Amino acid sequence: MSALPSASATFDTVVVGGGAAGLVAARAEVLAGRSVALLDAADELGGALARASVADVEVDVGAESFAVRGTAVSTLIRSLGLTQVEPSPEGAWLLRDGRAHPLPSAGVLGIPGFPLADDVRAIIGTRAAVRAYADRLIPELTIGREHDLARLVRRRMGVAVLDDLVRPVVESVYGLRPEDADVDALLPGLNGALTATGSLSSAVLRLRSAAPAGSAVAGVDGGIHLIARALLADLQRFGVEVRPSSAVSSVDHAPGGWRIRTADDVIDAARLVIATDGSTARSLLRPILGDAVGIESEWPAGRRSTTITLAVDGVDALDSAPRGSGVLVAGAEDGSATALTHSSAKWPWLRDVLPPGRHLLRVSFRGEDEVPVDLAVQEAGRLLGVTIPAASVVDAARTVWRQDAARATRGLPARLAALSSAVAATPALAITGAWVAGTGLASVVAHAQSEVARLGAAPTD
Ligand SMILES: Cc1cc2nc3c(=O)[nH]c(=O)nc-3n(C[C@H](O)[C@H](O)[C@H](O)COP(=O)(O)OP(=O)(O)OC[C@H]3O[C@@H](n4cnc5c(N)ncnc54)[C@H](O)[C@@H]3O)c2cc1C
Repeated sequence: MSALPSASATFDTVVVGGGAAGLVAARAEVLAGRSVALLDAADELGGALARASVADVEVDVGAESFAVRGTAVSTLIRSLGLTQVEPSPEGAWLLRDGRAHPLPSAGVLGIPGFPLADDVRAIIGTRAAVRAYADRLIPELTIGREHDLARLVRRRMGVAVLDDLVRPVVESVYGLRPEDADVDALLPGLNGALTATGSLSSAVLRLRSAAPAGSAVAGVDGGIHLIARALLADLQRFGVEVRPSSAVSSVDHAPGGWRIRTADDVIDAARLVIATDGSTARSLLRPILGDAVGIESEWPAGRRSTTITLAVDGVDALDSAPRGSGVLVAGAEDGSATALTHSSAKWPWLRDVLPPGRHLLRVSFRGEDEVPVDLAVQEAGRLLGVTIPAASVVDAARTVWRQDAARATRGLPARLAALSSAVAATPALAITGAWVAGTGLASVVAHAQSEVARLGAAPTD
């Protein structure tokens, strides 16, 4: 047997994957006094905290906001010297059967708190709203918990609430069919509030009253991508070895810790943090953990989507933000847009940096087929109820996304709990990232910090 090649470098910690999770983990490690290398497959770090230059303005083409529950993201933003901003107060709209309506204001993930409210009736009609109100009269669940979100909503509020309100929101935010969504993972506390209050609508109101006042999401002055840029600047300042275009192909146990391989390098480390997407992480972990936790077994498929960001000039009808911050589409057909964000209406900082009369629109499609810009322009016009001439588009950027199955997919929370236990039982190993933490920055940042804290002082201190 040939001897192991010697490592070209040795660090206290290697972090694999430089999206939000890996950047946050690397910063925590270097601030704890460790030597750190951060390896990412892409030529620009940041993962879904992505940017593109559209008509000479750097804009978010991935995440553009964060949920304000918890304090992890706000604290991080402040510590990076960035400024947290609120979106404009106009909410989002829903397009159903060609008609647009403001999304009901008092709801959670589309589940209405006031089923008979005008904004609910406008979308599902009075008869369906009365059916939804029957939720207040149906005896509460007393035995067991309901895990299937679709069943829970359909049983308590009827099929119209499920299909016309809940489905578009859950599919757009989590890429998840309500039939596949685990209630406890998606809305922790909902089952408990349902038991305590006796109805789904009251449970939703209770969850809302427990949330902080004001908007449920916030942004960063200049864009969410600045979080990645500022984290990277910190890492470089603190002496972290940051290596873009360095896809890790394998990780193995080695004397003193871990051996990490890329196509053209071998690195040793005492501690290893895997912060890639789920399918990469599972293939790296397989030789270490085996199938003890079902890592080899089929994993639910993730989702692919394409976003086209358009810079549009001189369409006066956009100045009044005709669909508020954007539009979700109920029952979007294949090949048509599923959602639109009117970014320059949603974010005052963005409106201020654009020349007068310019708007930024982000149009989302399912899948990763080549979406012609003309189709995105046409769909933007349809969703906004405005004519957008092709000649008014001054620039466009296309981004393709592959996201893992949401952590809240039914069956996954138990598998992920078993996987996390197996990882915790493996010395000097941590895994983090949206596939284990849950979708969204609020979950990802808090999880990355707590995973690194769990590794604690051992073994290098
Ligand atoms: C279009 C879009 C919009 C979103 N909008 C929002 C939003 O508004 N608000 C919100 O809170 N969340 C939003 N999210 C979700 C949020 O952005 C993600 O949950 C979060 O950024 C994920 O971070 P991560 O580090 O787990 O993964 P990622 O950002 O996916 O990072 C994983 C990294 O691993 C690297 N990698 C992969 N394989 C390897 C390998 N073999 N070796 C080394 N590196 C590797 C990748 O290059 C990548 O940089 C959005 C996501 C998308 C895609």
